Amino acid sequence: MKTANSPDTKSKDILSIKKIIVSGHENVVYCEDKDTGLKAIIAIHDTTLGPALGGTRMWNYSSKEDALNDVLRLSRGMTYKAAISGLKLGGGKAVIIGDSKTQKDKKLMCKFGQFVDSLNGRYITAEDVGMSTKDMEYVRSETKHVTGIPESMGGSGDPSPVTAYGVYMGMKAAAQFKWGNNNLKDKRILIQGVGHVGENLLMHLTNEGASVIINDINKEHLSNISKKYNAKIALDENIYDLDIDIYAPCALGATVNPDTISRLKCDIIAGAANNQLADEDRDGKLCLDKGICYAPDFLINAGGLINVYSEINGYDRDHSIQQTREIYETTLEILKKADNEGIPTNDAALKIAKQRISNKNK
Ligand code: NAD
Repeated sequence: MKTANSPDTKSKDILSIKKIIVSGHENVVYCEDKDTGLKAIIAIHDTTLGPALGGTRMWNYSSKEDALNDVLRLSRGMTYKAAISGLKLGGGKAVIIGDSKTQKDKKLMCKFGQFVDSLNGRYITAEDVGMSTKDMEYVRSETKHVTGIPESMGGSGDPSPVTAYGVYMGMKAAAQFKWGNNNLKDKRILIQGVGHVGENLLMHLTNEGASVIINDINKEHLSNISKKYNAKIALDENIYDLDIDIYAPCALGATVNPDTISRLKCDIIAGAANNQLADEDRDGKLCLDKGICYAPDFLINAGGLINVYSEINGYDRDHSIQQTREIYETTLEILKKADNEGIPTNDAALKIAKQRISNKNK
């Protein structure tokens, strides 16, 4: 990893910050603190449209290089998610290297907050995997450049219900495009992963009368959710072979790949998981060729980002929900554009996002 002292950070003598030279990113810094054991990378991909907002992920990466690759990929994705959602935000992300269950404490999060603060607002952090609203409270004690703080502190709290609502809107738009009708009543929908987002999505779909099948590696949780919503359960080995209309990945990335695409019998893929396509270029095209309408993940799962964005200017939940509802129109527009141009839907969405950034530059 090539590093140099960072020129655009304050208090660099107190905080050990090294700039990592990466082409295509505006600023990437490695942050280390011996006292707390903090090792983190903050990546600012692009701030053309506004400050780079993106969550902090804590993960037991096997090497600094793995952590760097992850933060670069995720921060780039945030740039396009913000741009396609019409937000005045750029893309950034942070990763903390370590086990969030055993290595995370108040001191570590406060120190991380100091590093975020040293970037003078060009990066705004939020929750991601391995983080909680409590952790954001600790970060908040050191910097104002943080979102996703608890509702009791005037923040926007858990973004998952808003994310799920956006996914639901995107799914309905895909139905309208594919079937000429956005009614999901009696449609057979598989939700993979009924966690924070998946459960909220299940609630919307159940209310509309869809026939939902659920899958989750946590069997006890799966059974509880099944009882709560009277949803059918599918077991792991055969989920991609089920006779369904819509597949909603709400657990992991990369579940849309040549193996699963060849097995899936659905018309639509629309879910919350980030990076659903194992290989963006190859798998978007495979979906197109098979006639599966893929609702781009970074477009339809942007509700959570829209929600935390609202926190910057004083949180207004109604406004967040209204803006998230617009995912319906945006998705429809992009699916039509992709169809007219004969290109994969994820390419069409990326094209518009990139155009918005380059128009701002002119
Ligand atoms: P979560 O951890 O609350 O839920 C994930 C669920 O998936 C858990 O119940 C887990 O047991 C299950 N799971 C994990 N691996 C699985 C597997 N192999 N097969 C089936 N189930 C599996 O996470 P979440 O907040 O609901 O987020 C779900 C997805 O949506 C993630 O990919 C996340 O990155 C993405 N996302 C979330 C938000 C948000 O607001 N929470 C916003 C944008 C994107």
